[in-house]
Amino acid sequence: MNFLERVRRFMYGRYGFDQFGRFLFGLGIFFWAVCFLLRFMLVARAMYIIYRVCSFLNTAVYVYAVFRILSRNTYKRSLENEKYLRIRNKVVPILEKKTENLRNKEYIFKNCPQCGVRLRLKRVRGKHTTKCPKCGKTFNVRVFVDYRNDGYTDIR
Ligand SMILES: [Zn+2]
Repeated sequence: MNFLERVRRFMYGRYGFDQFGRFLFGLGIFFWAVCFLLRFMLVARAMYIIYRVCSFLNTAVYVYAVFRILSRNTYKRSLENEKYLRIRNKVVPILEKKTENLRNKEYIFKNCPQCGVRLRLKRVRGKHTTKCPKCGKTFNVRVFVDYRNDGYTDIR
């Protein structure tokens, strides 16, 4: 019996890997990275506590991830995965919207302070005065980072 065959037999009836499992491993790597960075900053006592907490969470997440892979209660594990996917489908679009201003290299998005309409503005660093095309309110927009500098074209 070769190695792969043995693994297959060992895994028979066990749950294995899923999206939630992948997320847990990612989370483990995140905690590990935080620990790694904190090692260079172990001066303050508060840092040491954070380091201990991250180190514990890193281990806990991996133990849980491995437990799920080896679990024979596949029904319960798949329910966990469904729950995870439901939460992810709600959270990911919110995060995408929140980080849109950071990710979009050409435009920034601002809401008009008077009528609340969403405006798309060319991303050019500096302080600009702009006028809302809906209500006519004039207001200042500050852009901290620009990627392209090809002139400010106001609201489009
Ligand atoms: Zn407006």
